[in-house]
Amino acid sequence: MTRIGIESAFEVLVKARALEKQGRSVIHLEIGEPDFPTPANVVEAGQRALGQGWTKYGPTQGDPELREVIAAYISRTRGIQVGPERVCVVPGGKPIMFFTMMALLEPGDEVVYPNPGFPIYESMINFLGATPVPIPLIEERGFSFDLNTFEARLSDRTKMVILVSPANPTGGLVPAEDIRRLAELLRHRDVIVLSDEIYSRIIYDGDPVSIASFEGMLDKTIILDGFSKTYSMTGWRLGYGVMPTWIAEAVVKLMVNSNSCTASATQRAGIEALTGPQDAVTAMVAEFRLRRDAIVHGLNQIPGFRCALPAGAFYAFPNVSGTGMPSKELADLLLYEAGVACLNGGAFGAHGEGYIRFSYANSLANIQEALSRIQKASERWARSVSS
Ligand code: PMP
Repeated sequence: MTRIGIESAFEVLVKARALEKQGRSVIHLEIGEPDFPTPANVVEAGQRALGQGWTKYGPTQGDPELREVIAAYISRTRGIQVGPERVCVVPGGKPIMFFTMMALLEPGDEVVYPNPGFPIYESMINFLGATPVPIPLIEERGFSFDLNTFEARLSDRTKMVILVSPANPTGGLVPAEDIRRLAELLRHRDVIVLSDEIYSRIIYDGDPVSIASFEGMLDKTIILDGFSKTYSMTGWRLGYGVMPTWIAEAVVKLMVNSNSCTASATQRAGIEALTGPQDAVTAMVAEFRLRRDAIVHGLNQIPGFRCALPAGAFYAFPNVSGTGMPSKELADLLLYEAGVACLNGGAFGAHGEGYIRFSYANSLANIQEALSRIQKASERWARSVSS
């Protein structure tokens, strides 16, 4: 247990709630969940399912109808051909990480993964005794990586490569050409790619590209996706992986030893989410775009902050090295002095130091208020430095 990590978003949320209990006002830009309600048609489908008796255990691998729907959806959106035998439905996107890494990794195996990145990747690599091989993400490349560095980090011991695009915490996108070249590098290697595509529907410029769609990659790739972000369903706990059947068999075993199955009525709601009208998703992404433009513009007005325009997800990841403060200190100051909850970039790995993550899954009015609070706080710290 000393090797397993945590996710700081949940920690900061607890601190922010404690401040609110003391009567302080806090704007929440820390937690990565859409602030929109789950679309009404999806809620109704869930309620209907409960009324119809979808209240019992179901198949461990997932509701067969939902698995069909997911296989068709992934085939259509990724330009590949997959059947339901490759689909495992689990309670959220995270369990796909947990189960597939647990199934595949052993001490001595190397895992190449993005840094800064979603903290659970590194946590699980360390927990399982595998060797973390971080790939630095580069601000000037839209927070993608350098392919030569990537190639240099691959070795005979590389068992898994983790990709995420669009990414948390940077909002960055891996360019399609880089994914193609990466596929060429990996095609003949004995590696598995864990491709975290949970933000694939939240892209502002360009289309999602899955490494699974390149020649020879389908049987090496685990696509991780789910309902949390796209359909504002974080609390329903519904996600899935699409993977080679030999890995699916391992995931089913781990599921039967842990959850037995994913909640039955939740899965019926998932069928409606994927097959029903998609206008709530379109409206959500349009609103996120407005907020992205507002927060990036506002952050760039603050002395010491430099913020690139994220291409996807709902995170802004400004470089704050110009403030002269370590990012943990700055994140604490913003929470305790300005009442703006955000995350220290260093919590996403060593290469996140010097950055702060703001989730802009909050109203435009709250984002404007947060920006004005940060601006005022920055005037105070500028005065204290000069005096
Ligand atoms: N992958 C990434 C990159 C994420 O940011 C998150 C959620 N923050 C997840 C996976 C997990 O999603 P879920 O809540 O569905 O488990």
